Amino acid sequence: MSQKCDICGKIPSFGNNVSHSHRKTRKVWGTNVQGVRVRQPNGAVKQMSVCTKCLKANKVVKA
Ligand SMILES: [Zn+2]
Repeated sequence: MSQKCDICGKIPSFGNNVSHSHRKTRKVWGTNVQGVRVRQPNGAVKQMSVCTKCLKANKVVKA
């Protein structure tokens, strides 16, 4: 399961953790991507990685 949304193409974002003493370490903010079975327009069913924002916006029809 990848961290990329198959609908909107959303990927993890990257930045720094910054401590109180201002030391910086790399940090990744992952996407909330769920594996769902999606009904295609032609009636077929496909397993896809979809972010929860797309799920909540009803951009996919769940099988
Ligand atoms: Zn999405």
